[in-house]
Amino acid sequence: MTDLASLRNRQIRLAARPVGLPGPQCWSFTEEAVSPPEDGGVLVQTLALSLDPAMRGWMNEGKSYIPPVAIGEVMRAGGVGRVLASRHPGFAAGDLVSGGLGVQQYCAVPAEQMRRTGLARIDTRLGTLTQWLNVLGMPGMTAYFGLLDVGEPRPGDTVVVSGAAGAVGQTVGQLARIKGCRVVGIAGGRAKCDWVVNELGFDACIDYKAGDVRGGLKAHCPKGVDVYFDNVGGDILDDVLTRINRGARIVICGAISQYNATSAVQGPKNYLSLLVNRARMQGMVVFDYADRYPQAVAELAGYLKDGRMKSREDVVEGLEQFPEALLRLFSGANFGKLVLKIAD
Ligand code: NAP
Repeated sequence: MTDLASLRNRQIRLAARPVGLPGPQCWSFTEEAVSPPEDGGVLVQTLALSLDPAMRGWMNEGKSYIPPVAIGEVMRAGGVGRVLASRHPGFAAGDLVSGGLGVQQYCAVPAEQMRRTGLARIDTRLGTLTQWLNVLGMPGMTAYFGLLDVGEPRPGDTVVVSGAAGAVGQTVGQLARIKGCRVVGIAGGRAKCDWVVNELGFDACIDYKAGDVRGGLKAHCPKGVDVYFDNVGGDILDDVLTRINRGARIVICGAISQYNATSAVQGPKNYLSLLVNRARMQGMVVFDYADRYPQAVAELAGYLKDGRMKSREDVVEGLEQFPEALLRLFSGANFGKLVLKIAD
């Protein structure tokens, strides 16, 4: 039995809204006592946190698909943890769970916040803890519904995915291969490109940091592009727009190249290609598919088990590493799903 009264909860809170890349001035470190759960509540120990590009958006003021993190609030983060104490009928001490735990060592979830926190038990027979933050977690759900519901790939289609070696990209590409498509990734650097081709079975991958994305698309998509899963926006979106086929589907999943922009966001210059090609471009937000996550988890876990799906996680250790680790997403230093390990 853990002596709850002796526990201290270290937390990282949003101290200031960033301009450009979020520097150390954006964060404050706090520590407080841990209290046992009240009726209907649960106390969770954080084991690992998902570091996501979306965090950058949550730090901004203004209207979005989710309210911003308030100044002084514990930074929002999805994570996996272990239930330490429960007064909720659905959870018992020792259960492994996922949910919106925040950048802190312990998350006390009162009864009225249970739904908002999205606490759910996870089954480590289906995937490891870190895979529950990757293929079986939010990025995997994004890949699954973004590709299948919005991208509507058909066998024989050419699917292009940017951020190919990242969390969402790795699952998009492998899933598109499983569905019978030709898959071309776009990623930064030779090592990432080699990995998605040699380990994940992509048909090709274009190293955008080496330049000439258009040339690469021409060489590797000789029949044009039917589905583009866009994780990065900016110039790469414009390059792909020049190669799309009639009736192409462009999934606007993210635009990481724009998240730290200090001037106006760069929109697509080549959007008239949509008109000429009777194509569509559609945004998606993963949370809209929450009711169907179990379906996606079951299918993706099946691919992990039969070896058709692989995953790669990039694990950084220690709560205090959060500010530095987050920046890795924007430099491309992460190789695979970026995870912050908090405890064993
Ligand atoms: P990730 O791909 O694991 O990590 C981010 C990667 O973005 C970096 O490793 C880097 O890879 C690439 N990158 C950074 N700056 C770039 C730039 N200027 N141009 C091109 N690439 C750049 O992250 P993730 O969690 O899978 O997220 C990928 C995208 O999906 C993000 O845009 C995110 O916001 C979005 N997303 C959307 C939803 C939704 O519901 N719509 C849900 C989850 C994620 P390289 O080394 O290849 O440059």
